[in-house]
Amino acid sequence: MRSWDWDVVVVGSVNADLVVGVDRRPAPGETVLGSDLATHPGGKGANQAVAAARLGGRAGLVGRVGDDGHGELLRGALAADGVDLAHLLTTPDAPTGVALITVGPDGDNSIIVSPGANARLGPDDVTAARAMIAAASVVSFQLEVPLPAVVAAARVAAEAGGRIVLNLSPPAPVPDELLTRCDPLVVNEHEATYLLGEDRAGDPRALAAALARSGPRSVVVTLGADGVVVADGAAAPVRIPSPRAEAVDTTGAGDAFTAALCLRLARGDPLLDAARYAARAGAAAVRKAGAQSSFPTPDELPPPPA
Ligand code: ATP
Repeated sequence: MRSWDWDVVVVGSVNADLVVGVDRRPAPGETVLGSDLATHPGGKGANQAVAAARLGGRAGLVGRVGDDGHGELLRGALAADGVDLAHLLTTPDAPTGVALITVGPDGDNSIIVSPGANARLGPDDVTAARAMIAAASVVSFQLEVPLPAVVAAARVAAEAGGRIVLNLSPPAPVPDELLTRCDPLVVNEHEATYLLGEDRAGDPRALAAALARSGPRSVVVTLGADGVVVADGAAAPVRIPSPRAEAVDTTGAGDAFTAALCLRLARGDPLLDAARYAARAGAAAVRKAGAQSSFPTPDELPPPPA
């Protein structure tokens, strides 16, 4: 097997999650009191880089933060897990991205994301990070940073022979050039339905097969506690169960899953084996509160389902 400098390089977002609990949300023009503000490191890109590093991967992150306190906090969290930050740039003229999150009495989230510095990540940044992207076995993307940066980085990875994993979150249209390079495309049911452009909810195997026919080299559809469906090329889709987990907070389960999948693919696992491992990481992440705070080390993974 070819040797790579990096298992996983993530090109993606870095956000501070600002969380307030409320009894009810304010109507327009109204003010309500909430709980104390909690500030957590987040952003799908940063989450996936941290999750991959915590599982023992050599991980790097290409992204942007502002020149402010949130940027410092996020850098600190990433560095604590050993993520390489040589290409985490500081943007002087935009604040660090934030997610404003209100949590209602039933644990239901309402979220506003202000992209800030994430929106400044561009193809020039990809050119500057070219050596790192080209030295990664797997390059992982989500859609919380501008599409031109994602497309440019996927091109660099493809030319270098790296494997491209795209988590279509938040769901948005992507060009065929990107879609056809995904191996796999990782979506939950909502994102899968979005991409197929019609209401195809129902049998997740049919959903995965339809997606696999639409361009990606392989597709993984995540189904929460119900596990995953993997469609690898033209092969019949395979359903993989998740370990049973007492769910405390499902935030970040998708990021833990995708990061673990990328890591095992980088280490040479076939897609199905990588998905089995990733389901254990996703299940581990729902057992603790928060996103990055819930990501497991290898010895915290639950055993595979019997
Ligand atoms: P999120 O956006 O909340 O991070 P997602 O919708 O992208 O998540 P999910 O399908 O909810 O992704 O979760 C990803 C994977 O994590 C699942 O395929 C499964 O393997 C695991 N998982 C999630 N929730 C549970 C659960 N309650 N019990 C066991 N495993 C779970």
